[in-house]
Amino acid sequence: MTIKDAFGSKPRKKYVTLPVYAEDLQYGAVPPVKRCPRCGLRTREEELAQHWNVCPACGHHFPLAVERRLELVADAGSFEPFDETLRSVDVLGFPGYADKLAALWESGRSEAIVTGRATVGGEPVVLGVMDSEFMMGSMGSVVGEKVTRAFERALEARLPVIMITASGGARMQEGMVSLLQMAKTSAAVGRFSAAGLLYISVLTHPTTGGVTASFATLADIILAEPGALVLFAGPRVIEQTIQQKLPPEFQRAEACLQHGLVDAIVPRQELKAVLARLLALHRTGG
Ligand SMILES: [Zn+2]
Repeated sequence: MTIKDAFGSKPRKKYVTLPVYAEDLQYGAVPPVKRCPRCGLRTREEELAQHWNVCPACGHHFPLAVERRLELVADAGSFEPFDETLRSVDVLGFPGYADKLAALWESGRSEAIVTGRATVGGEPVVLGVMDSEFMMGSMGSVVGEKVTRAFERALEARLPVIMITASGGARMQEGMVSLLQMAKTSAAVGRFSAAGLLYISVLTHPTTGGVTASFATLADIILAEPGALVLFAGPRVIEQTIQQKLPPEFQRAEACLQHGLVDAIVPRQELKAVLARLLALHRTGG
């Protein structure tokens, strides 16, 4: 019998994937493992979660779900959400948008940002966390409205605002209505800042497009996670426009720090302590 007879005309696989842990081989269970794109280390998802999805070997920051992000930053049990019932409308009749929204709502997510009141290290704040798993964290009318209302409520209560961003930019399915949110949220930040209140943003991977070009970069203090991409237009678009090759570190948080767009890069495990300290330092008294 030839090899071809045995395997048919399909090419044979050149390699197989083996589980990493000897004890798992022994018991026959293979736990889900994630491979670090930076250093190649394979870590069990469970162990990675214990490190807030940061690679224990090289410090690479994997994405972190919005619920975990709230756990990371807000004091336990302190988060009280705002505007959970606001829902996007398919104003343009964009092909597939209504179905996409319906499927996401069905899965228990309501929009690409959660906002609410919380305490961080005992300091009361208004907190927003973007959800990159909801249509890439894109900003449509509801994200813009929730951000605007968060700033308005914080202004009324004279509380600081923390926005943790992750976004693919404006939501194309809502066209001009999405772009309008850039102006709307910027105006809300402007009114808030004019009252002398503190706004801190935390840029996480990736923060792009209309969110970068509006409320994400209008903060008094702009923090970023290591390695986060922070950009308005992508590198390909810029290279084509200016006809120049861009350096590989271009648009990473580290380059943004060097050029003054970002004030500090804060590893995820230190984020809560840094935020709590900044809030305590800027406390308006009362
Ligand atoms: Zn790594």
